[in-house]
Amino acid sequence: MQFRDLKTQYQQLKREIDESIANVLSESNFISGIQVIELEQQLAEYIGVKHCITCANGTDALTLAFMAWDIKENDAVFVPDFTFFASGETVVFEGATPIFVDVEERTFNISPNSLRDAINRVLEEGKLKPKAIVAVDLFGLPANYDKIREIAEEYHLLLLEDGAQGFGGMLHKKRACSFGDISTTSFFPAKPLGCYGDGGAIFTDNDEWADLIRSYRIHGKGNDKYDNVRVGMNSRLDTIQAAILQVKLNAFQQYELQAVNQVAKYYTKELKEYVQVPIIPEEFYSSWAQYSILLESRKQRDGLQEYLKKNGIPSMIYYPKAMHKQKAFQEIDCAITDLSITEILCDRVLALPMHPYLDKREQDKVIWSIKEYMKSIK
Ligand SMILES: *Cc1c(COP(=O)(O)O)cnc(C)c1O
Repeated sequence: MQFRDLKTQYQQLKREIDESIANVLSESNFISGIQVIELEQQLAEYIGVKHCITCANGTDALTLAFMAWDIKENDAVFVPDFTFFASGETVVFEGATPIFVDVEERTFNISPNSLRDAINRVLEEGKLKPKAIVAVDLFGLPANYDKIREIAEEYHLLLLEDGAQGFGGMLHKKRACSFGDISTTSFFPAKPLGCYGDGGAIFTDNDEWADLIRSYRIHGKGNDKYDNVRVGMNSRLDTIQAAILQVKLNAFQQYELQAVNQVAKYYTKELKEYVQVPIIPEEFYSSWAQYSILLESRKQRDGLQEYLKKNGIPSMIYYPKAMHKQKAFQEIDCAITDLSITEILCDRVLALPMHPYLDKREQDKVIWSIKEYMKSIK
């Protein structure tokens, strides 16, 4: 059994993907080929935003957004404490200070109350200027944008949606990656929509930021690549990756997104009496980058993981360490409010196999094994 089965997906889509790659090879426009422009239009339409700008990976997408906003030294950027390292790393990369915010136990996403506390605390201390909020759509579930948008407006903060795991999710029938002033995603192979290497994209309705990001992405170009009006980076999506993503976006829209939701529904129905299952609040829709259950203790979680492993079932711990505990952030005054929910989650979460090609027999095996383990420790 695979945790995320990219081989089966390729077997299903092989004919179309091979053809798509072969086209790029014969055209030989490996950088900025027509497929990149087409994909950007398709993605912008799917998400429902004016601009989509692809780039080299989801980390660069965050960096490019911060560059467009001129995030710099003495700026405070509020980031959930329970997320992938890049959400905070890119803030420090720009010279700004990440202020880590606790999350909600039920959704794993940034807690609006903790966010408000952290902003007020920074204002009281008076050393940093609150500038932006990074809301992460963790495990595929959009963050609580109704409340977060309200807070962003109240304190005049920019809102960045880190939708690296959220692509395909929805809130009030609106797609993830449309909720930030700028939103970003990643096409790392294991994300909800993945390519065959690194890739990423930035989404916004703002013309000025879109122009800036298009420039920063290619060496701060002006009218052309050899007219350089600002210092930027080299962060493009390869034409081959765009061609692969065109095929995969189609499968994602046609059936993959529904398929993972079906797996999640079945897991939840069967497991909810045994472990704490993920909650999808009313009006929200997840793209199930992960299906993470919550155990009662670290000991129970580690015991279950061991038991699953013995039965040939892969599982993962996202994330074993809170952001504010990462060694790379130890010199920074980044933990100024209570972050205890994150610490609890790090000890107790476990992600189960989840992908669109997980068959019924495999799902049943996962469910049966968890039930057996939970009964054995009663
Ligand atoms: C994967 C991920 C990123 C970074 O994306 P890459 O394409 O790997 O650079 C950023 N934020 C979150 C929440 C992620 O899960």
